[in-house]
Amino acid sequence: MTTARLVYADESGLLYDHPYLEMAGSSGGNWTRVEDNVLIPLPSGSEIFLLPQRFPVGYDSKKRGFVKLSEDPHHPQSKVQAVAAFMAPAHTQILTAAYHGEENAPILPLFSYTALGWLEDRFVVAGVRVDPLVRQDIDQFEQEKLEKMATSALGLHRHNRLIQHLGTCALTYGCPAAKNYFLRRWEAPLPTSPQCNATCLGCISLQEGDQICASQERITFVPTPDEIAEVAVDHLQEAEDPVVSFGQGCEGEPLLQGKTLIEAVKLIRSQTDAGTINLNTNGSLPQTIAELRDSGLDSIRVSLNSVREAYYHAYYRPRGYGYSDVTRAILTMKSKGGFVSINLLTLPGLTDEEEEVESLIRLLDETAIDLIQMRNLNIDPEWYLREIGYHPSGRVVGIPEMMKRIRTSHPQVSFGYFNPCLNPGKERATS
Ligand code: SF4
Repeated sequence: MTTARLVYADESGLLYDHPYLEMAGSSGGNWTRVEDNVLIPLPSGSEIFLLPQRFPVGYDSKKRGFVKLSEDPHHPQSKVQAVAAFMAPAHTQILTAAYHGEENAPILPLFSYTALGWLEDRFVVAGVRVDPLVRQDIDQFEQEKLEKMATSALGLHRHNRLIQHLGTCALTYGCPAAKNYFLRRWEAPLPTSPQCNATCLGCISLQEGDQICASQERITFVPTPDEIAEVAVDHLQEAEDPVVSFGQGCEGEPLLQGKTLIEAVKLIRSQTDAGTINLNTNGSLPQTIAELRDSGLDSIRVSLNSVREAYYHAYYRPRGYGYSDVTRAILTMKSKGGFVSINLLTLPGLTDEEEEVESLIRLLDETAIDLIQMRNLNIDPEWYLREIGYHPSGRVVGIPEMMKRIRTSHPQVSFGYFNPCLNPGKERATS
């Protein structure tokens, strides 16, 4: 077991390590002890969140039990707060934070809450780096250079609404993909759709109820194929390992703009065949994916919170499509020789539950998916599990064991976090 110590905050938000309680974690709502081999130093660029009206939970190895910390051992009678880490991109959580919520504790905002501890004079988290690419590492971004390059591009392209939108994304919201567009490298975003045909519990661009708020403004217009191509062609021809991706956090479902996307992809591929054109999608319209593939689309990334239909429907609350359409979309892209990733929205306790892992392996058997992107599900874990009607179905094998099983059963499947450039560094003739 771990020697990492519980980290908690006092009333004013100052962080402390507990004098003797061990760091604990949570998996599917169950508190669990932490093994040292799942701990890594807190990645730079991560944030530490205070969890309102939630008591920290640690493990007392003397009493052999979990302990809810209700007062500050350094200042008796003063209140304490639980804390969690929001890890930097490219890292997947293995355990979420262990805490005990008060009766009317507010629902936590749309972030992920990874277990945090203190070990050998530094913060540690129960997580793993799943992608070596440094695309969104905080030390890759020089603000001054970004502002200079963005300002010049925005001045040059006043007529292009999409470039102006990406300017706000990069300079106001700090979107790393939009920043990389202006810095002319790696993956650039092509948001296009104000509408969606799903109503995900954890949608970050549109929340209909008042329980939680969306963390991003949704795009309000549909760019023209010319506006899209102007962004994409320059990027594909000039950027290092270029990828351009439809389907961003600041939009609905791009497949609903199928006609525009098909025209845009044709326009892009008529000017260059460098780099990769990718579509991040909920996979709802297989026929549109077929037409996009025929137009020159290289890859798709289909988001899934679970490969168990009931949990999928309970989370996505799809309108006019279902889980079977999603698997058909994957098969369609594969049947046309396209590259397919799944964006596995990872929550420890559900994603690594034996039944889920076996279902995922069956999906890999049936579909020959190429890449599993392990992105943390940004949601209040307890609220989410309640909302989808989660019932533990048996053993939880753990995220590392889940990945090991898939590597054994499907060695051709890789794990990652980012959409790959399928033809890196290949400069091709432009027409
Ligand atoms: S599919 Fe995407 S845009 Fe649509 S509701 Fe879900 S998260 Fe939001």
